[in-house]
Amino acid sequence: MALGSIRITVLGSGTSVGVPTIGCRCPVCTSDDPRDKRLRPSIYVRYGDHGVLVDTTPDFRQQALRARIERVDAILYTHSHADHIMGLDDIRPLNFRQGGEIPIYGAAEHMENIRRCFHYVFSNTKTESSKPRLAINIFDASPINLFGLEFTPIRLCHGQGTVHGFRFGKAAYLTDHSDIPEESMNQLTGLDVLFLDALRHRPHPTHSTVERSLQSVEKLAPRRAFFTHICHDLSHARTEEQLPPHVRLAYDGLEICVEEGAA
Ligand SMILES: [Zn+2]
Ligand SMILES: [Zn+2]
Ligand SMILES: [Zn+2]
Repeated sequence: MALGSIRITVLGSGTSVGVPTIGCRCPVCTSDDPRDKRLRPSIYVRYGDHGVLVDTTPDFRQQALRARIERVDAILYTHSHADHIMGLDDIRPLNFRQGGEIPIYGAAEHMENIRRCFHYVFSNTKTESSKPRLAINIFDASPINLFGLEFTPIRLCHGQGTVHGFRFGKAAYLTDHSDIPEESMNQLTGLDVLFLDALRHRPHPTHSTVERSLQSVEKLAPRRAFFTHICHDLSHARTEEQLPPHVRLAYDGLEICVEEGAA
């Protein structure tokens, strides 16, 4: 199916605590460069008349206002860490606009955590106020067809935990991971755009580093790569000076266009 172009908006490129980080006076947290201001990690994918959101960060309201998001037709969850789910309640104005339930998709373990964190949303008890209206869907390894575009869950190691990235057309978004298993590497060939976790230079038990993600880029050979989930160790300008031209740091508000949905 011809879908034309897919537009990816980076809603947030920061690590779990965001940049600037509360209480920190380091050069990156006090930088004037707007690309050093990083909300929590998320993207919005637009194609045809539809918009798909990946994760609902604690900053979702601010991100949606800034990106002028007017509809969300589905939400995909990478995992259930707080920096990826805590904005879920702010989906309500989109429910009001759109009517009906918004389908949300996650792996069983993570959907269970989301259900527990937001028990009031999924309980059948009547409320005098409004609550998000959502339809839960559990994914396994099979591609999820959303409005004519297939999103394939890509299994990733996030320390001891298992999380998912997503491949859609010639784009892939792999936030939080420390390792990409071999069988997942095989699902990531022929990419135009690859987003991937690169927290900082120093090793971290649950996140990839600039050096490690550069190795992944070298193996997978996408046409372009963007690093995300970035902490305050990395100055945007100074880090990019040290990267090859086809590898850049993502920044909040960045828009990337990928031609043709079919891979
Ligand atoms: Zn995270
Ligand atoms: Zn700082
Ligand atoms: Zn995480």
